[in-house]
Amino acid sequence: MKDKNIYDIIVVGGGPAGIFTSIYGSQSGNKVLLLEKMEKLGKKLLIAGQGQCNLTHTGTKDEFIDKYGDNGSFLKKAFYKFPPQALINFFAERNLPLVSTEKGKYFPNTFKSLDVLSVLKKELEKLDVQIETKMEVLEVNFNDIFQVKTKDNEFYSRNLVIATGGLSYNITGSSGDGYKFANKMGLKLKNTKPSLTPCYVKDYPYSNLQGVSFKSILLELWRDNKKIKSATGDLLFTHKNISGPAIIDNSRYFEKGDKLIINYSGIPYEMFSENIRKIINNNGNKMIKNIFDNPNFSERFIKFALKYCSIDENKKCNLLNKSEIKNLINYLTKFEFEISKLEGYERAMATSGGIDLSELNKNTMETKKIKGLYFVGEVTDIDGDTGGYNIQAAFSMGALAGISIRR
Ligand SMILES: Cc1cc2nc3c(=O)[nH]c(=O)nc-3n(C[C@H](O)[C@H](O)[C@H](O)COP(=O)(O)OP(=O)(O)OC[C@H]3O[C@@H](n4cnc5c(N)ncnc54)[C@H](O)[C@@H]3O)c2cc1C
Repeated sequence: MKDKNIYDIIVVGGGPAGIFTSIYGSQSGNKVLLLEKMEKLGKKLLIAGQGQCNLTHTGTKDEFIDKYGDNGSFLKKAFYKFPPQALINFFAERNLPLVSTEKGKYFPNTFKSLDVLSVLKKELEKLDVQIETKMEVLEVNFNDIFQVKTKDNEFYSRNLVIATGGLSYNITGSSGDGYKFANKMGLKLKNTKPSLTPCYVKDYPYSNLQGVSFKSILLELWRDNKKIKSATGDLLFTHKNISGPAIIDNSRYFEKGDKLIINYSGIPYEMFSENIRKIINNNGNKMIKNIFDNPNFSERFIKFALKYCSIDENKKCNLLNKSEIKNLINYLTKFEFEISKLEGYERAMATSGGIDLSELNKNTMETKKIKGLYFVGEVTDIDGDTGGYNIQAAFSMGALAGISIRR
């Protein structure tokens, strides 16, 4: 074994998680090697937020924890050690201030992911991290020390950090290699599936309403006659599926055959029903199509809904019968879809599932079974909502692992 090839830390994967592990792990003079299989670092980071890079979000720690499905509490220590404000400071101190949009998303003030990557690369260089691109790790072994094999090289280290990402958008390099390594090391994995995707439904009726959107609809997810989840958020009809944050952020829970019940009004059923009946009674001479003042009910949508309920849009309110009113209220507040499929990994923005969190020490990201072995970022069973939560989690987990190794 050649001495020069023994590192304090080898990091596999040059996305945000691996880059931050390298930065924080090397700060006390550790010898760090970062191995990336693509020709350059951070290919997924470059396409994040449509090339603008939505790095993080406004919100308290508790609000953040809520954005990672059932697994958010695993990130408490990572967010304590490296909270969103630390990320904002990190870039500001390196002349790339972040700015927040009215929806609370933080972007670099240039709105260019390339600038984010360039700050990160400069920092890696400053800290003398050895970066090897086009260096795909094929095998990892542990025998007192870690051995990392690529096609033509072998490297050795005292600590090994796997930051290979998930399975989505594998053109950026993330093709699930971390799961293979974990498997070989005897670690449990949670089944993976595409997350952050739009949702296809059976007999989709809204192709012609492409672009119609709704604010803060109420959504319920049902499986085998049991309610699994209630959520609220914005919804969008596309020409072939339903999308928008309400769908995308909850897609990690969806399975084929599940029922989605949508309340397009955003107002609880009883309240909506009572209100609309009053409006109908008080406006007997108005045409039904003209009585809606809810901003979610665009003219296009209401015309479609009335047609679907076989109600003439020009019918006067005082001529509507009880069952017509009931059908319309149900249509607007209890519309049922059956999920037929989600997008595949090639279109999903994240992967849910991965390294089972029970295998990791949440205070350090080290595996409980093998000392010196760490997993960070999307390769773990952590996936967040849209809005900067995934990149923040990757950075925070990377920083936590790096700091922990330094100690
Ligand atoms: C289109 C799109 C837009 C997105 N936009 C946003 C956004 O705006 N905000 C947000 O928060 N999140 C966004 N995300 C999600 C976010 O980019 C990821 O969650 C984040 O990049 C995960 O970071 P990571 O470091 O864990 O993994 P990755 O960024 O996937 O990095 C993993 C790296 O490991 C390398 N690698 C894999 N296997 C090997 C191997 N065997 N040897 C060597 N190297 C290897 C890969 O080449 C890759 O560079 C988006 C995702 C997509 C697909």
